[in-house]
Amino acid sequence: MEILRTVAELRQWSRNARGNGKTIGLVPTMGALHAGHASLIRTAAASCGAVAVSIFVNPTQFGPNEDYAVYPRSFEADCALAKAQGAAVVFAPAVEEMYPAGAATLVEVEGLSGCLDGKSRPGHFRGVATVVAKLLIAAEPDRAFFGQKDAAQVSVLRRMAADLRFATEVVVCPIVREADGLALSSRNAYLNPAERIQALTLSRTIRQAEALAASGERQASALIAAARKTLAAEPDLRMDYIELVDWATLEPVETGAPGSLFAVAAWVGATRLIDNTILP
Ligand code: AMP
Repeated sequence: MEILRTVAELRQWSRNARGNGKTIGLVPTMGALHAGHASLIRTAAASCGAVAVSIFVNPTQFGPNEDYAVYPRSFEADCALAKAQGAAVVFAPAVEEMYPAGAATLVEVEGLSGCLDGKSRPGHFRGVATVVAKLLIAAEPDRAFFGQKDAAQVSVLRRMAADLRFATEVVVCPIVREADGLALSSRNAYLNPAERIQALTLSRTIRQAEALAASGERQASALIAAARKTLAAEPDLRMDYIELVDWATLEPVETGAPGSLFAVAAWVGATRLIDNTILP
Protein backbone atom coordinates (compact mmCIF):
# COMPACT_ATOMS: atom_id res chain seq x y z
CA MET A 1 0.00 0.00 0.00
CA GLU A 2 1.37 3.37 -1.03
CA ILE A 3 1.45 6.53 1.11
CA LEU A 4 0.77 9.70 -0.87
CA ARG A 5 1.62 13.14 0.49
CA THR A 6 0.54 15.60 -2.20
CA VAL A 7 -2.69 16.47 -3.97
CA ALA A 8 -0.92 16.00 -7.31
CA GLU A 9 0.06 12.43 -6.36
CA LEU A 10 -3.47 11.58 -5.22
CA ARG A 11 -4.98 12.99 -8.42
CA GLN A 12 -2.48 11.08 -10.54
CA TRP A 13 -3.16 7.84 -8.65
CA SER A 14 -6.91 8.29 -9.10
CA ARG A 15 -6.63 9.05 -12.80
CA ASN A 16 -4.35 6.05 -13.35
CA ALA A 17 -6.75 3.77 -11.51
CA ARG A 18 -9.69 5.10 -13.51
CA GLY A 19 -7.67 4.62 -16.67
CA ASN A 20 -7.30 0.99 -15.64
CA GLY A 21 -11.08 0.70 -15.48
CA LYS A 22 -11.38 0.95 -11.69
CA THR A 23 -14.08 2.64 -9.65
CA ILE A 24 -12.55 5.04 -7.13
CA GLY A 25 -13.61 5.12 -3.47
CA LEU A 26 -12.50 7.71 -0.91
CA VAL A 27 -12.74 7.34 2.88
CA PRO A 28 -11.90 10.66 4.59
CA THR A 29 -10.67 10.30 8.19
CA MET A 30 -8.67 12.11 10.82
CA GLY A 31 -6.75 8.95 11.72
CA ALA A 32 -6.65 7.14 15.08
CA LEU A 33 -8.51 4.51 13.10
CA HIS A 34 -10.86 2.07 14.84
CA ALA A 35 -13.45 -0.51 13.85
CA GLY A 36 -15.85 2.25 12.72
CA HIS A 37 -13.33 3.50 10.18
CA ALA A 38 -12.51 -0.12 9.28
CA SER A 39 -16.12 -0.79 8.34
CA LEU A 40 -16.13 2.28 6.06
CA ILE A 41 -12.95 1.10 4.32
CA ARG A 42 -14.32 -2.44 3.96
CA THR A 43 -17.59 -1.13 2.54
CA ALA A 44 -15.64 1.05 0.11
CA ALA A 45 -13.42 -1.85 -0.98
CA ALA A 46 -16.49 -4.03 -1.56
CA SER A 47 -17.85 -1.68 -4.22
CA CYS A 48 -14.77 0.17 -5.51
CA GLY A 49 -11.74 -1.34 -7.24
CA ALA A 50 -9.39 1.34 -5.87
CA VAL A 51 -9.82 2.84 -2.40
CA ALA A 52 -7.96 5.80 -0.94
CA VAL A 53 -8.10 6.51 2.80
CA SER A 54 -7.21 10.05 3.74
CA ILE A 55 -5.67 10.67 7.15
CA PHE A 56 -5.62 14.36 7.95
CA VAL A 57 -6.30 16.07 11.26
CA ASN A 58 -7.95 19.11 9.76
CA PRO A 59 -7.10 22.22 11.79
CA THR A 60 -9.94 24.34 10.37
CA GLN A 61 -12.66 22.15 11.88
CA PHE A 62 -11.38 22.61 15.44
CA GLY A 63 -12.35 25.63 17.54
CA PRO A 64 -9.64 27.66 19.31
CA ASN A 65 -10.24 25.87 22.63
CA GLU A 66 -10.72 22.39 21.17
CA ASP A 67 -8.44 19.36 21.04
CA TYR A 68 -6.52 19.87 17.76
CA ALA A 69 -3.08 19.76 19.42
CA VAL A 70 -3.82 16.63 21.44
CA TYR A 71 -6.04 14.76 18.96
CA PRO A 72 -4.83 11.11 18.97
CA ARG A 73 -2.37 10.31 16.20
CA SER A 74 -1.28 6.73 15.37
CA PHE A 75 -0.06 6.81 11.79
CA GLU A 76 1.75 3.45 11.62
CA ALA A 77 -1.15 1.49 13.08
CA ASP A 78 -3.59 3.45 10.88
CA CYS A 79 -1.70 2.45 7.73
CA ALA A 80 -1.71 -1.21 8.81
CA LEU A 81 -5.47 -1.08 9.44
CA ALA A 82 -6.21 0.69 6.15
CA LYS A 83 -4.15 -1.86 4.24
CA ALA A 84 -5.77 -4.82 6.01
CA GLN A 85 -9.25 -3.50 5.13
CA GLY A 86 -8.40 -3.15 1.44
CA ALA A 87 -7.13 0.40 0.91
CA ALA A 88 -4.83 0.83 -2.09
CA VAL A 89 -3.35 4.11 -0.85
CA VAL A 90 -3.29 6.32 2.21
CA PHE A 91 -3.31 10.05 1.53
CA ALA A 92 -1.61 11.83 4.43
CA PRO A 93 -0.85 15.42 3.47
CA ALA A 94 0.88 18.08 5.56
CA VAL A 95 -1.30 20.99 6.66
CA GLU A 96 0.49 23.28 4.14
CA GLU A 97 -0.46 20.90 1.33
CA MET A 98 -4.18 21.23 2.07
CA TYR A 99 -3.94 24.91 3.05
CA PRO A 100 -1.23 26.48 0.89
CA ALA A 101 0.26 29.77 2.08
CA GLY A 102 -2.32 32.51 1.80
CA ALA A 103 -5.27 30.08 1.48
CA ALA A 104 -8.43 32.18 1.59
CA THR A 105 -11.15 29.90 0.18
CA LEU A 106 -13.72 28.34 2.48
CA VAL A 107 -16.85 26.30 1.80
CA GLU A 108 -19.83 27.41 3.87
CA VAL A 109 -23.03 25.39 3.75
CA GLU A 110 -25.39 28.01 5.07
CA GLY A 111 -28.16 27.13 7.50
CA LEU A 112 -27.24 23.49 8.02
CA SER A 113 -23.82 24.44 9.41
CA GLY A 114 -25.43 26.22 12.34
CA CYS A 115 -27.49 23.21 13.44
CA LEU A 116 -26.73 20.49 16.02
CA ASP A 117 -22.94 20.27 16.43
CA GLY A 118 -22.56 23.44 14.39
CA LYS A 119 -24.45 25.35 17.09
CA SER A 120 -22.01 24.43 19.85
CA ARG A 121 -18.95 24.29 17.58
CA PRO A 122 -19.10 27.50 15.49
CA GLY A 123 -17.08 27.15 12.28
CA HIS A 124 -16.78 23.37 12.65
CA PHE A 125 -18.84 22.44 9.61
CA ARG A 126 -17.20 25.15 7.51
CA GLY A 127 -13.89 23.44 8.22
CA VAL A 128 -15.35 20.01 7.43
CA ALA A 129 -17.01 21.15 4.18
CA THR A 130 -13.84 22.96 3.10
CA VAL A 131 -11.52 20.01 3.63
CA VAL A 132 -13.91 17.45 2.16
CA ALA A 133 -14.40 19.64 -0.93
CA LYS A 134 -10.61 19.77 -1.33
CA LEU A 135 -10.38 15.97 -0.94
CA LEU A 136 -13.14 15.37 -3.49
CA ILE A 137 -11.48 17.73 -5.97
CA ALA A 138 -8.12 16.00 -5.43
CA ALA A 139 -9.26 12.36 -5.50
CA GLU A 140 -12.16 12.68 -7.97
CA PRO A 141 -13.79 9.62 -6.39
CA ASP A 142 -16.90 7.89 -7.72
CA ARG A 143 -18.00 7.33 -4.13
CA ALA A 144 -17.03 8.85 -0.79
CA PHE A 145 -17.86 7.00 2.42
CA PHE A 146 -18.97 8.62 5.68
CA GLY A 147 -20.32 7.30 8.97
CA GLN A 148 -23.85 7.89 10.26
CA LYS A 149 -22.06 8.42 13.59
CA ASP A 150 -21.55 12.03 12.43
CA ALA A 151 -25.10 12.39 11.14
CA ALA A 152 -25.15 16.19 10.94
CA GLN A 153 -21.88 16.09 9.02
CA VAL A 154 -23.57 13.78 6.52
CA SER A 155 -26.38 16.32 5.98
CA VAL A 156 -23.88 19.16 5.47
CA LEU A 157 -21.78 17.12 3.03
CA ARG A 158 -24.76 15.81 1.06
CA ARG A 159 -25.96 19.40 0.65
CA MET A 160 -22.48 20.54 -0.38
CA ALA A 161 -22.03 17.69 -2.88
CA ALA A 162 -25.42 18.46 -4.43
CA ASP A 163 -24.89 22.24 -4.50
CA LEU A 164 -21.39 22.08 -5.98
CA ARG A 165 -22.48 19.36 -8.40
CA PHE A 166 -19.76 16.96 -7.35
CA ALA A 167 -19.79 13.80 -9.45
CA THR A 168 -19.19 11.81 -6.26
CA GLU A 169 -21.89 9.71 -4.62
CA VAL A 170 -22.03 10.22 -0.83
CA VAL A 171 -22.40 6.80 0.83
CA VAL A 172 -23.43 6.59 4.49
CA CYS A 173 -22.40 3.59 6.62
CA PRO A 174 -24.03 2.45 9.89
CA ILE A 175 -22.68 3.31 13.35
CA VAL A 176 -20.23 0.73 14.71
CA ARG A 177 -20.54 0.25 18.49
CA GLU A 178 -18.64 -1.46 21.28
CA ALA A 179 -20.30 -4.59 22.66
CA ASP A 180 -21.84 -2.51 25.46
CA GLY A 181 -23.34 0.02 23.04
CA LEU A 182 -20.84 2.91 23.14
CA ALA A 183 -20.41 4.31 19.63
CA LEU A 184 -16.77 3.98 18.58
CA SER A 185 -14.96 7.31 18.41
CA SER A 186 -11.32 8.32 18.31
CA ARG A 187 -12.17 10.60 21.24
CA ASN A 188 -13.15 7.61 23.44
CA ALA A 189 -9.38 7.35 24.05
CA TYR A 190 -9.71 10.47 26.23
CA LEU A 191 -12.10 8.77 28.68
CA ASN A 192 -10.85 7.49 32.04
CA PRO A 193 -12.51 4.32 33.39
CA ALA A 194 -15.19 6.22 35.34
CA GLU A 195 -15.98 8.43 32.33
CA ARG A 196 -16.09 5.38 30.07
CA ILE A 197 -18.99 4.08 32.20
CA GLN A 198 -20.71 7.49 32.26
CA ALA A 199 -20.38 7.68 28.47
CA LEU A 200 -22.70 4.68 28.12
CA THR A 201 -25.56 7.00 29.04
CA LEU A 202 -25.50 8.38 25.49
CA SER A 203 -26.15 5.04 23.80
CA ARG A 204 -28.73 4.32 26.52
CA THR A 205 -30.71 7.40 25.46
CA ILE A 206 -30.48 6.23 21.85
CA ARG A 207 -31.75 2.72 22.63
CA GLN A 208 -34.51 4.25 24.73
CA ALA A 209 -35.59 6.51 21.85
CA GLU A 210 -35.51 3.53 19.49
CA ALA A 211 -37.67 1.49 21.88
CA LEU A 212 -40.15 4.35 22.33
CA ALA A 213 -40.32 4.90 18.58
CA ALA A 214 -40.85 1.18 18.04
CA SER A 215 -43.75 1.28 20.50
CA GLY A 216 -45.35 4.06 18.44
CA GLU A 217 -44.13 7.20 20.24
CA ARG A 218 -43.35 9.77 17.55
CA GLN A 219 -43.70 13.06 19.46
CA ALA A 220 -40.41 14.95 19.67
CA SER A 221 -41.39 16.34 23.08
CA ALA A 222 -41.85 12.84 24.54
CA LEU A 223 -38.71 11.37 22.97
CA ILE A 224 -36.60 14.34 24.06
CA ALA A 225 -38.04 14.41 27.60
CA ALA A 226 -37.25 10.72 28.09
CA ALA A 227 -33.67 11.20 26.88
CA ARG A 228 -33.23 14.30 29.00
CA LYS A 229 -34.30 12.32 32.08
CA THR A 230 -31.88 9.49 31.28
CA LEU A 231 -29.00 11.92 30.78
CA ALA A 232 -29.88 13.82 33.96
CA ALA A 233 -29.61 10.56 35.94
CA GLU A 234 -25.86 10.70 35.31
CA PRO A 235 -24.84 13.85 37.23
CA ASP A 236 -21.31 13.95 35.80
CA LEU A 237 -22.63 14.24 32.28
CA ARG A 238 -23.39 17.67 30.80
CA MET A 239 -25.96 17.73 28.03
CA ASP A 240 -25.14 19.71 24.88
CA TYR A 241 -28.23 18.92 22.79
CA ILE A 242 -31.01 16.39 22.35
CA GLU A 243 -32.95 16.95 19.13
CA LEU A 244 -35.34 15.30 16.73
CA VAL A 245 -34.78 16.78 13.26
CA ASP A 246 -35.35 16.23 9.58
CA TRP A 247 -32.11 14.49 8.52
CA ALA A 248 -31.84 16.45 5.26
CA THR A 249 -32.45 19.96 6.61
CA LEU A 250 -31.54 19.46 10.30
CA GLU A 251 -34.67 21.48 11.13
CA PRO A 252 -36.44 20.33 14.32
CA VAL A 253 -39.63 18.34 13.75
CA GLU A 254 -42.55 18.04 16.19
CA THR A 255 -43.46 14.56 15.06
CA GLY A 256 -40.90 12.01 13.97
CA ALA A 257 -41.29 10.35 10.58
CA PRO A 258 -39.34 7.46 9.04
CA GLY A 259 -35.88 8.91 8.36
CA SER A 260 -36.02 11.55 11.11
CA LEU A 261 -32.75 11.96 13.00
CA PHE A 262 -32.74 11.69 16.80
CA ALA A 263 -29.38 12.98 17.98
CA VAL A 264 -27.68 13.65 21.30
CA ALA A 265 -24.43 15.30 22.33
CA ALA A 266 -23.01 15.53 25.84
CA TRP A 267 -19.83 16.32 27.69
CA VAL A 268 -18.28 13.56 29.75
CA GLY A 269 -15.62 15.41 31.73
CA ALA A 270 -13.62 17.31 29.10
CA THR A 271 -14.73 15.02 26.25
CA ARG A 272 -17.68 15.84 24.01
CA LEU A 273 -19.42 12.75 22.64
CA ILE A 274 -22.27 12.32 20.15
CA ASP A 275 -24.68 9.55 19.22
CA ASN A 276 -27.83 9.21 17.14
CA THR A 277 -30.40 7.00 15.51
CA ILE A 278 -32.56 7.28 12.42
CA LEU A 279 -36.22 6.54 13.12
CA PRO A 280 -37.58 3.58 11.17
P1 AMP B 1 -13.15 10.88 11.95
O1 AMP B 1 -11.82 10.24 11.78
O2 AMP B 1 -13.66 10.87 13.36
O3 AMP B 1 -13.26 12.21 11.26
O4 AMP B 1 -14.17 9.92 11.18
C1 AMP B 1 -13.96 9.58 9.84
C2 AMP B 1 -15.20 8.90 9.33
O5 AMP B 1 -15.46 7.73 10.10
C3 AMP B 1 -16.45 9.79 9.45
O6 AMP B 1 -17.24 9.66 8.28
C4 AMP B 1 -17.14 9.24 10.65
O7 AMP B 1 -18.53 9.43 10.65
C5 AMP B 1 -16.80 7.76 10.54
N1 AMP B 1 -16.94 7.12 11.84
C6 AMP B 1 -16.39 7.50 13.02
N2 AMP B 1 -16.80 6.71 14.03
C7 AMP B 1 -17.64 5.80 13.48
C8 AMP B 1 -18.42 4.72 14.00
N3 AMP B 1 -18.42 4.40 15.29
N4 AMP B 1 -19.17 4.00 13.12
C9 AMP B 1 -19.19 4.32 11.81
N5 AMP B 1 -18.50 5.32 11.26
C10 AMP B 1 -17.73 6.05 12.08
